[in-house]
Order: sequence, then structure tokens, then C-alpha cells
Amino acid sequence: MASVSRMVVVGLDGATFDLIKPWAAEGKLPTFARLLAEGAHAELRSTLPALTPPAWTSAATGKNPGKHNVYNFYKVSGGGTGKLPLTPADLRSRRVWDIANVYGKRAGVVHLPLTYPPEHLDGFVVSGIMTPKGVEDYTFPPELRDELQAHVDGYRFDVDADALKVGDLRAFAEDAFELQRIQTAEMLYLFEHKRWDLLWVMFHTLDKLQHFFWHLMDPTHPAHPGATEFADVVLRFHQLLDEALAGVLARLDDDTGLLVMSDHGSCRLESYFLIMNWLEDTGFLRMKNAARSPLKRALGGMGIEARGIVQSLRRAGLGWVPRLVPGRLKAQVPQARASFARIAPHVDWSGTRVYCPSAPGSGLRVNLRGREAEGIVAPEDYDRVCEEVRARLLTIVDPKTGRHVVHAVHRREEIYAGPYVDNGADLLVETTDSYCLIEGMGPAAIVPAGQNDGERTGNHRREGIFLLAGAGARRGVALPTLDICDVAPTLLYLLDVPVQQDMDGAVAQGAIAPELLAARDVRTDQLAAPAEVAATEMSDQDRRAIEGMLEGLGYL
Ligand SMILES: [Zn+2]
Repeated sequence: MASVSRMVVVGLDGATFDLIKPWAAEGKLPTFARLLAEGAHAELRSTLPALTPPAWTSAATGKNPGKHNVYNFYKVSGGGTGKLPLTPADLRSRRVWDIANVYGKRAGVVHLPLTYPPEHLDGFVVSGIMTPKGVEDYTFPPELRDELQAHVDGYRFDVDADALKVGDLRAFAEDAFELQRIQTAEMLYLFEHKRWDLLWVMFHTLDKLQHFFWHLMDPTHPAHPGATEFADVVLRFHQLLDEALAGVLARLDDDTGLLVMSDHGSCRLESYFLIMNWLEDTGFLRMKNAARSPLKRALGGMGIEARGIVQSLRRAGLGWVPRLVPGRLKAQVPQARASFARIAPHVDWSGTRVYCPSAPGSGLRVNLRGREAEGIVAPEDYDRVCEEVRARLLTIVDPKTGRHVVHAVHRREEIYAGPYVDNGADLLVETTDSYCLIEGMGPAAIVPAGQNDGERTGNHRREGIFLLAGAGARRGVALPTLDICDVAPTLLYLLDVPVQQDMDGAVAQGAIAPELLAARDVRTDQLAAPAEVAATEMSDQDRRAIEGMLEGLGYL
């Protein structure tokens, strides 16, 4: 008799079957191999954009961003001329742990985005990425922090992204492995010593390693430098995760199921697509003093031609640009990149129709009159401008490779539905795999990635992983692609809690044991909308701390 009443979710940010399956088949990842053989698995299609905050939020709410209101790390501010990090106050939906609580289930939530400040759950919270560096109040209940420090050897919360800012891959990798050992121990401690019905842990470090080490493991990557000590970093990190999963499997009882999932997959990144350059080249965007154009060259150097750039900036007399870089790092600044915040003061808004305020969100905004601070596009021209930029984007061919750079461009109404669609970007740009949108400006609209240490050479791709095992799982089956919105309803069903009617996803019945499906109906219900969380005023210090952390990870 199949029964399940508890679920543990292990989230592996950025995990892809493209790496896991071959390594599992070669015997390098025995636990993944066992999960693939004994559980139910499928590719899991992420949100648009396939980005950490909206993707985890869609997994946890079962809804598209038009309903939960999380599109990016940031939201625009100042009529489009600035941006602010999102907080839980921006979230407009219950997540699966809140719903489980309402139906009397205890939940533990560990390292998910948008969990700082930690909410007061029936259960416990350790907040995750997007927590300001240096804060002490990252757990609920507050005393959980002391408990973890007492019981987890070498416990620390903060991620050290500073090594990336100087392109020190060795220091970054060492820190990543140490942090994962700590977080695995933390997970197993909470698993064993806390009461929970739903335990959802997320490990973010894999995503970062794949961003920065891809070209070092892939001999066919254009920036592959030959064999280095870093060639197997991504594999060894997978093996560390494989051991963590073995630890969970060893502790599963007959009533507990295991879901291993990622928020999006990963693939190699060969070229940056400098969208603001392209918008300027095509006349959608105008820079002040464009004729002299030292700005473009100067900005473009940051992170792309980093080594020579500080000197050339000094020669160009652009005093404001070197301030991007802390003084002690000026000699080696590969990770620093020009951000929209630095570019915005130099945009001639009176000649700008379209711009990109945040490349990780893959969104373009129309400089719409009445909405943007210095909008010029009349509302009656909005549709025409959207269609014009979409058509032009779809024609871009990389002269070096002959490949199309942009795979699809979506109007927000085409991909989102719900009360908060208007908070999405006007257009969402899906690049072809191996091209990545960035918001800095440079010498050309398409430039090769990985020319300096500390540049990203791994990219997100939409297809992530879904692996259900343990109690309630169907045995040994490969399923067609699931949607990331299916995660929350599937978890609720496995917890024996009603699925919420306003969810976009559905219970992934193909992944569930037929005996359980026969014995347990899919119940549905609809809770009243949650009260909006009062926006806690974020201090400038906290905001800068979050921005500093995101910048270190390359998420400007
Ligand atoms: Zn992610």
C-alpha cells in the first residue's frame, strides 16, 4: 500500500540532465543513477525568464509570474531609470509551505530566494539568496541560528562572492565546496532533529560554479584553455551533491517522499549579446554625446576587455567609470561590468524608445510616455514599437557563427496571465542557447565570453530537472517534460493537502505511484488571498549589501 505524508525537496539551482545523465551512466554519480532508475523523472520547463527568483517562486506557488509578481531579482523604480531588489513584500501569492501550514502541516524552508526577512511559519526558516550580507536575523525562530552554529561544524550563512569579483577561481571553488559541506550538514541536521511534514532545502552554489567554470570542463568551448586544475570542478561538485542525496535517501522512512529538482537548467555560454549596444546601433536608444563615443568603448571594457580598460579609462579621462571598481581591484577587474545604473545617466531619453533596465530579467521596456520618467513613445505607438523591435531582434545573425542570436521575443501578455502582468517587462527576449543578454555597453553588440578569468561561460537554459523518489513515487519511469508550475500542486497532493484552484500547474500524476492515485483523490480548495505583507522599509545599507552580493554573482 503506497502512502506518503511527508515530503523533502532538495533544490539544486541550475542542475541539468545534460550533465547528470551521462555522469550517472558512467558510474560517477551513483545516487543520481539510483534515483533515475528507481524513481520518476522528467525535464522541468522553467519560467520566462529562466531565472532563479521567478523560477523558484513559480515552483513554490504553482503560478506564473503574472500571479506571483516575481519577474527578476529587481523591480524598476524611478519611472524606469533605476531598480530595487525584490523583497517578500513584493510577492503576491502563498507559497506551498504557507498553504501546508493552513492545513496543519509543519514546514521547514531553507535557503529559498525571497525568504528574508524570514516569515513566522509553523516550522522553521533559514533565509536564502537575496539576504543582505552580514545580517544576523536570518532564521525563524531566531534561536535556530544559535542551534545551527552549535551543531553544524564550521557553520556560516554568508556566501563569499568576493573571490569572483577579482576572478580568483581557486578561492571561489574552495569556498563553494566548503559551503556545500556546511549546507549538506545543515540539511541533514534539520532533517533529523526538527519536526516537519514538508522540508524544502535549496542549494544555490552549483549554479554559480556552472556559470564560471563551464569553459574549463568543456574542451569544445571556444574559450577552453586546455587542461587545468579546474577541469573537473563541476563534476566533483556534482559528486558532493550526490553524497548529500545519499544522506537523504539513507534517512527516508516509508512515509516520506523525495523530490530533487532544479529551477532551470544550464548550458554553455559562448557569446554575450550586448542588448543596449544593439538598441543604440538600431536607433531604438540614444546616448548623450554619442559622436565622441568614448563612453561605449569605456563601458564595454568592463568585464569584456577588462585588463586594458582601466588604463584606457584613465587616458579617456572618464573619471566616473573607474569608480565602478574598488581601488584595490583596479589592477584586475574582470568581473566588474557596466550596469544599467551606471549607464542610465548617460542615456538621452528624448531619443530613446526602448531600453533594458536589467539583463538577467531578459526584459525590454518601452520608454512609454506617462509611465516612464522621461517617456517619449505615445501610447498609440506602443504596439508598433514592440512589434518593430521584436521583428528586428529576430533577424540578428552572429556574423562569426551564422547563427541567430535571438530565439524568440514575447510580449508580456503572451506569456503571463494574472493581476500583475503589468509589472512584467514589455518584451521578453529569449536568446539562443550559448548567447547571454548583458546590459553593459561595449565595442560591439556580440562579443565572445570567457576572455578573462571570472567571466561567465555557462548560461541558463530553460529545461531543468525533476526527480521524484521514495514514498508515493512511481518506479523507474521517464516522463514527458513537466512545467515548473506543476511542482507546488504535486507536493500538495503528496502531502495530502488540497491543491489550490488558482494554481496554473497540475499534479504530475505520471510521476506518482498508481496505487496512491487509486487510493487518494486529487482534492481542490481555494484559500482567500493572503494579506499583503507590509513592505518593510529596506535600509540603504541592506539594499547595497544585496546589490553587492548579486553583483558578485554577475547578476547586475
Ligand atoms: Zn537558478
